[in-house]
Amino acid sequence: MDKEDQKLINYVDNNKEELCALVRKLVSIPSINIPGERVGKQLEVGNFLYKKFREMGLNNVHFQDVYPGARNILGETPASSKEIGIVFNGHTDTVHIKNMTIDPFAGSILNGKIYGRGTADMKAGLAAAIIAVKAFLDLNTNPSKRILLAAVVDEEGLGRGTNKLISEGVKAKYGIVGEPTCFGGRLKIAIAHKGRAELEVTVKGKASHGCEPALGLNAISKMSDVIKAIEGKLSPKLNTKSHPLLGVPTVNIGVIQGGTQANIVPDRCKIKIDRRTLPGETLASILSEIEDVLEQLRGKDPDLNVSVKVAKSTLKRKSEPMETSPDEKIVKVAKWAVECVSGVSAGIWGSPGYTDASPMVNKARIPTIVLGPGRVGHTPDEYVHIAEVVDCAKVYALIIKSICT
Ligand SMILES: [Zn+2]
Repeated sequence: MDKEDQKLINYVDNNKEELCALVRKLVSIPSINIPGERVGKQLEVGNFLYKKFREMGLNNVHFQDVYPGARNILGETPASSKEIGIVFNGHTDTVHIKNMTIDPFAGSILNGKIYGRGTADMKAGLAAAIIAVKAFLDLNTNPSKRILLAAVVDEEGLGRGTNKLISEGVKAKYGIVGEPTCFGGRLKIAIAHKGRAELEVTVKGKASHGCEPALGLNAISKMSDVIKAIEGKLSPKLNTKSHPLLGVPTVNIGVIQGGTQANIVPDRCKIKIDRRTLPGETLASILSEIEDVLEQLRGKDPDLNVSVKVAKSTLKRKSEPMETSPDEKIVKVAKWAVECVSGVSAGIWGSPGYTDASPMVNKARIPTIVLGPGRVGHTPDEYVHIAEVVDCAKVYALIIKSICT
């Protein structure tokens, strides 16, 4: 660390209160996003950030209309070069507040933690990035390359906010997504995560009266053969593939639907499969794997009428796996920054959850890391450790200086 780095660290230390107040303010504005339900509250948090970005002195502060009731807010630092060194992507929406055991919007502070919906996922990450950027503006040490702050909507829904950011042509040398990565209490740098696809397998049979089952073809019985084959043949095959950070791809049969009442032979049975994918696996490749299993079954049972398709939800949001090379400069710089701030070596990590880093890497082709305060979101008592938020703001500031100067 040089003198300038130390100034940034000191700035964050001297502005801890402002950072905490910002997290609490963001948490106090409800921005619940339940897929399928229209909740306009994402607008309010957007309006607050628009004002904040302008007050801070960011340039080119503007909205991107994503869908009714939801707009991204963007702003960038003034810089001599037009090039954007880092785009910080932070989502402003949260999951629902059902079954929460704390006041979701109070931002209460207890034992060094801020409590509330969206603290860890991920209003604290966004606040830390804002304070890190503000450090450069307030210290008048603007790096030559620009820093773009992108507060996006709908990450908890269909990912339309980041898709809009990308379709509007976002370009940057590197990206940071500030989702929580302090799992186990240590700030980690996620450079990979699995993708997710939902598949539906349907078996068609023939209905008949329950008293004469031989006249029908029981779709539920046939489906039991299909389930056995998927678990018996596909799962072992997936266990042979492995990624150093992500482990093996998985398949889970999570829903079964079939039949209408006990005295009717069911003519239809459907299962829904959650498939977590590794980098290199595609929708086409996972479909053809299941198709192979089904084809073997069809060969043994000519009566079996079975088909597989990709679920509509997956077609709407293609949640592809994400991977950034550990050799990218952003990864090396982040490692150095975490070590400077925390004093311990930074873990390079594969994150268990899906994030907007996926479209940033796969569609926008921006090498991106996931790094942020908090351990896990979506919980009934969601919270973030203040010390992690402060450390993260310092880490962001050091990364920005190193990449953008
Ligand atoms: Zn999130």
